[in-house]
Amino acid sequence: MPILLLRPILRRLLAAAAAAAPAEACGVLLGPGGAAPARILAFAPLTNRAAATGAFALDPREFLAVEAAGRRQGLAVLGTFHSHPHAGPLPSALDLEMAWPGHLLLIAGRTRARRWRLAAWRAAAGGTSAQRFTISTSSTSKTRIELGGIEPLPLAP
Ligand SMILES: [Zn+2]
Repeated sequence: MPILLLRPILRRLLAAAAAAAPAEACGVLLGPGGAAPARILAFAPLTNRAAATGAFALDPREFLAVEAAGRRQGLAVLGTFHSHPHAGPLPSALDLEMAWPGHLLLIAGRTRARRWRLAAWRAAAGGTSAQRFTISTSSTSKTRIELGGIEPLPLAP
């Protein structure tokens, strides 16, 4: 089952990852709830509150603000995004443990060639394994919606 990702959002995810490196970037992915395949129509970068590098923790107040802004536009939180500046886009044991059941886990990993790669996962119940999804990018206007309500939130680092 593919994940549908708008090309401008893909660019924003990778830009957030590059800007945060060597720390991890993190944020929230939004789209119409219940749609299959999942369509990611908006990305809100959140402050990484993790005390240590090599980890991420979403800011809970920013999360609630983004969730409310999304709801006003008919968008649900589909999952989270974070980056691995020093590893590939595979979920770590901690990522699986912390993942919300049923939610997407999008990870941008940086390979030894210093190129970012994106992978999509959904953690299985129990937090020890994850299913990988293929990512389809789209630049068609068919799936495009107005992202203005999400992007102007004063959440970008
Ligand atoms: Zn991770």
